[in-house]
Amino acid sequence: MNTPAPKPAPNAGPNPTPNPASPTPAVTNFIHEVIDADLASGKHTTIVTRFPPEPNGYLHIGHAKSICLNFGIAKKYGGRCHLRMDDTNPAKEEQEYIDSIEQDVRWLGFDWESHSYHASDYFQQLYEWTLLLIKAGKAYVCDLTPEEVSKTRGTLTTPGQDSPFRSRSVEENLDLFTRMKAGEFPDGSRVLRAKIDMASRNLNMRDPVMYRIVHAEHPRTGKQWCIYPIYDWAHGQSDWLEGVTHSICTLEFEDHKPLYDWYIDQIIAIGGTPRNSLNTTGGRPRQYEFARLNMTYTMMSKRKLLQLVQEKFVRGWDDPRMPTISGMRRRGYTPQALRAFCERIGVARRSNTIDLALLEFFVREDLNARAPRAMAVLKPLKVVITNYPAGQVEQMEAVNNPEDPAAGARQVPFSGELFIEQEDFKEVPPPKFYRLFPGQSVRLRYAYIVTCTDVVKDSEGNVVQVNCTYDPATRGGNAPDNKKVKATIHWVSAAHALQAEVRLYNPLFTREDPDDTTGLPANADWRANISSESEVVTSALVEPSLASKKPGEFVQFERTGYFTVDPDSTAGKPVFNRTVTLKDTWTRIENKAK
Ligand code: ATP
Ligand code: MG
Repeated sequence: MNTPAPKPAPNAGPNPTPNPASPTPAVTNFIHEVIDADLASGKHTTIVTRFPPEPNGYLHIGHAKSICLNFGIAKKYGGRCHLRMDDTNPAKEEQEYIDSIEQDVRWLGFDWESHSYHASDYFQQLYEWTLLLIKAGKAYVCDLTPEEVSKTRGTLTTPGQDSPFRSRSVEENLDLFTRMKAGEFPDGSRVLRAKIDMASRNLNMRDPVMYRIVHAEHPRTGKQWCIYPIYDWAHGQSDWLEGVTHSICTLEFEDHKPLYDWYIDQIIAIGGTPRNSLNTTGGRPRQYEFARLNMTYTMMSKRKLLQLVQEKFVRGWDDPRMPTISGMRRRGYTPQALRAFCERIGVARRSNTIDLALLEFFVREDLNARAPRAMAVLKPLKVVITNYPAGQVEQMEAVNNPEDPAAGARQVPFSGELFIEQEDFKEVPPPKFYRLFPGQSVRLRYAYIVTCTDVVKDSEGNVVQVNCTYDPATRGGNAPDNKKVKATIHWVSAAHALQAEVRLYNPLFTREDPDDTTGLPANADWRANISSESEVVTSALVEPSLASKKPGEFVQFERTGYFTVDPDSTAGKPVFNRTVTLKDTWTRIENKAK
């Protein structure tokens, strides 16, 4: 097996660390318990959830947690999960983001079937309800500037102040609001606010803004609207209209729940109904909150991720260092690994920080089982086998994946001139160094046992070539009298190896908490923690079988790590991204070779 699972943080989620030798136990969480009770009591017969991203960026690993939870529930209970774009802010939203979100959810292995919705589908319905709320005296047009609105909102300990426009007549409010919609006023000049309670202990209830004026083209509704509902005014009603039974969100929305309930209460009071083909009973959604995923060495603020892209710290949203789903895909993380990780971290109500090593563990687990093996040399040192027949080439049979007999075997060309890793040779071996040095024998993986006879040095005394002899009786490591050698090393044939670019990835940040700037100059922010070694571009000599690999295909370079072919690859020159390192392949090869 691979490296043991790293210990989860002491406050990590509730599910036990899987023992790789036994199947993962059935995983449950507190939301499943709520649903079980709702089904048992007959409160619900069909379970409906949704994943509601705002298309203002690419999805990240935190969103993957929410996707696995919501779509996982639909799967587990035979219900449905809607994909709903919360597209209420045209200034920040783009079609590119919508497309990437759909691609990422599908890639993770989930399907919304026919249930693709948009908050913008409900703009007309929300507008009509708004007119009724204004008529009922529940909303008013406010001319305060955004700064004045926030200044008069009060604090956690002091009440807010009523807006001077709070007592406008219904007629004036209706007139102004319809003129806002007609495009008569510039951006930011007025808003529509709910009339609730400026002294409420809950700041969200202090006459929250419902609509703002934004003269911008919307990806779906074009120029049809120049007033846009605030997320809070759109979100709960969208759930209601779609017949969502369990609205699952992250903890920061806990204090918004009373507002969502207030809006629906008011709509019901004025005779509004959500009934349609998706909500046949008129039932109301119930909100449940869970802790968002935080991970060491990982930034999940969409604003900062956008900054990383715009300020060119990375190659793009899908840079293999990004915590985005598209970045992880390009790096070579698999949907299987991400789903297993999300299942393992579970769902809890206390917030926690998960160790990045736990995610890597699941990536390794999956790739260990499925990645074909190949040999690649990153820092080459030439080896000449002096007693090997000149010009001879042999095809050596190499096992594709020792974890998967069905993966079969391949032929790897062997010749008298090879490359091995520089670190596998030492002219003067330190204690316990069992690999190659003058007088020492090693096994060349899938080939022969060779013995180092002497070295060739350049004018500065560096070893540039290692001369060896081979023992023809040890071919394939299967000879009856296979000498006892303590190490097996990998190699490529000099004449057959393919040149490749290799991109070695390390964590993007140097600190566990990328926002931690203690000890840095006063003007430094999180960007000072970006690691200069997060991407190291180098080259490698790889066995020729890898020429046919296509972007997205993964491979284990024996003893080096798991790699995935990058889309930047060209016909003659593949580019490999290091997905994750190996920890103990060395001992594994040792044991299997004996
Ligand atoms: P913002 O609203 O600031 O743009 P966001 O991360 O909340 O950013 P959304 O697109 O609104 O992004 O998120 C969609 C869904 O994903 C929401 O239900 C949200 O609760 C959930 N989500 C976002 N970040 C995380 C996270 N780190 N862990 C778990 N769920 C998350
Ligand atoms: Mg959000």
